[in-house]
Amino acid sequence: MNKYLEEFRSEKAARIISDQINALQGNTRLTIMEICGGHTLTTMKYGLHTLLPETLTLKSGPGCPVCVTSTEYIDTAIALLQEHDVIIASFGDMLRVPGSTSTLLKQRSLGRDVRICFSPMDALSIAKENPGRKTVFLAIGFETTAPGIAVAIREAEQQGIGNIAFLTALKTMPQAMKALLSDPEALIDGFILPGHVTAVMGTGMYDPVIETYPIPGVVSGFEPTDMLASIRTLVEMIIAKKQEIVVQYTRAVKKEGNTAAQKIMNEVFVTADVSWRGLGTIPGSGLSIAGKYSHLDAEKKYAVSLPQQKEHPGCICGDVMKGKKTPNQCSLFKQQCTPENPVGACMVSAEGSCGIYFNFGRIHGR
Ligand code: SF4
Repeated sequence: MNKYLEEFRSEKAARIISDQINALQGNTRLTIMEICGGHTLTTMKYGLHTLLPETLTLKSGPGCPVCVTSTEYIDTAIALLQEHDVIIASFGDMLRVPGSTSTLLKQRSLGRDVRICFSPMDALSIAKENPGRKTVFLAIGFETTAPGIAVAIREAEQQGIGNIAFLTALKTMPQAMKALLSDPEALIDGFILPGHVTAVMGTGMYDPVIETYPIPGVVSGFEPTDMLASIRTLVEMIIAKKQEIVVQYTRAVKKEGNTAAQKIMNEVFVTADVSWRGLGTIPGSGLSIAGKYSHLDAEKKYAVSLPQQKEHPGCICGDVMKGKKTPNQCSLFKQQCTPENPVGACMVSAEGSCGIYFNFGRIHGR
């Protein structure tokens, strides 16, 4: 193992920190939410929950970008294929996310042109290589992917690529956190906060949240001892009733964030009300394309007719992402719903709670 990773994956260090958490917490019942799917993945993959006190509940939050992509968004992408014969360029996971009646993967098997991108810039190459066709890039993600997408939009404008557009469903964290905390059933004592999102936006992004709902949070890295150290700090803060934001992931996160990334996001995007799968429309919780670049906005460029939106009635993705239920409380989990045949979006991605429980729950007893 890489010597730099070794210290963050040391079992000895993990056990020392978990002993400290157990001693600190005693019999106090606490509930912590890890917002980011990457943190849920670390917890389940390394079995960290088995090292923690039984009185400490870890809940998964809505921080997996694929999971929160709405049915309407997938329906729109499919309608663009069917009604405008566009090339859809997308990150790979999106192909299996269920829409109301189909998926992009099924559409591709029927002969529609759906291509996988590893970066938003790939979509520009596809558009340039197909000058007689129209390309639409599915611009999803959080504050982590937004700067790269902003660069691609500005580049498309500067290069005068006329046959590309971007269908945005970009989400931002603070308003979603507020929406979670406004629910009286949420009962969250503290947050493990997303390291990569905060590396872009800086810790100030949480000010509006804790001003309205005073609560402690620790910005965490993604290795096992990162997570355990963050949980230890969070438990200390909850017990001491300290409601502030602390950074554990100091090797990546600066207080001010990445100001160059913020600058291009502010140039290309404006705040928008956005629909989250399972959570509904949350005011001010996303980004849409600013006026200067609106000719590259697929929603403005192409009219589509959408089917009646519907999700599988048995899927409880919304409750899973609000931390109200765990995947194994869904009657479809491991039965009709598996990673090979996902019924809901939370089973699709490597960072989706249901997929993580499916893959690692068997090893660590869930
Ligand atoms: Fe939805 Fe499948 Fe998860 Fe159930 S197991 S909540 S159907 S994604």
